[in-house]
Amino acid sequence: MALKVLLVEDDRELRQTLKEALKVEGYEVITSASSADAAAVIRHRMGSDDHLDLLILDLGLPDGDGSDLLRAVRGQFNIPILIISARYDDENKVRLLDEGADDYLVKPFHIGELLARMRVALRHRGTAIMAPQKQYARGTLHVDLGKHAVTQAGEPVHLTPTEFKLLARLVRQTGQVVTHRQLLVDVWGPDFVEHTHYLRLYMAQLRAKLEPNPTEPVMLLTEPGVGYCLAE
Ligand code: CA
Repeated sequence: MALKVLLVEDDRELRQTLKEALKVEGYEVITSASSADAAAVIRHRMGSDDHLDLLILDLGLPDGDGSDLLRAVRGQFNIPILIISARYDDENKVRLLDEGADDYLVKPFHIGELLARMRVALRHRGTAIMAPQKQYARGTLHVDLGKHAVTQAGEPVHLTPTEFKLLARLVRQTGQVVTHRQLLVDVWGPDFVEHTHYLRLYMAQLRAKLEPNPTEPVMLLTEPGVGYCLAE
């Protein structure tokens, strides 16, 4: 069965272009050009058997800001939400990710990029519903959260409890950016949201232990001003 995507975009031309491109990829696409209309579609669809699988949300809408809709939807549903916007600033991006957006694309973007981010968001949510990701393998590195084991070419790698917690948090969301705030809250606790220097320190330690070349990381990636991402 085709996955159902609600595309909320008031720019008619872009809406049509994206709709066609997504249909070619096999998605069923429902479009909406305003915040109020989108909210009605979401209310109706999510309460039925015909529920939506993913939401693509523009921020600048004629009757309101998409971020209000993001908060309203996220408060009720566990649907992946991708933000598309011409506006770009790190602070806003971080805020939207903190508020529950799965990803954020700046217009203009390549359709291939959108499709790739959609697949990551869908896979993440799909596995999250059944069981969070518990294993990670890349090159000679293998992480098994269930067994609490990290090995490099079959040899155990010793991590401190905090290093392991940080790595585990990233493994559970492999391929997605996790914000500084999310990492600090989940690994250290809510009182530590300002302590970004902890993150820098522990990421450096993890890279030194896990990356083939710690100065040019290929797994533990920095998203400047936003957070970190464990590469797929
Ligand atoms: Ca717009």
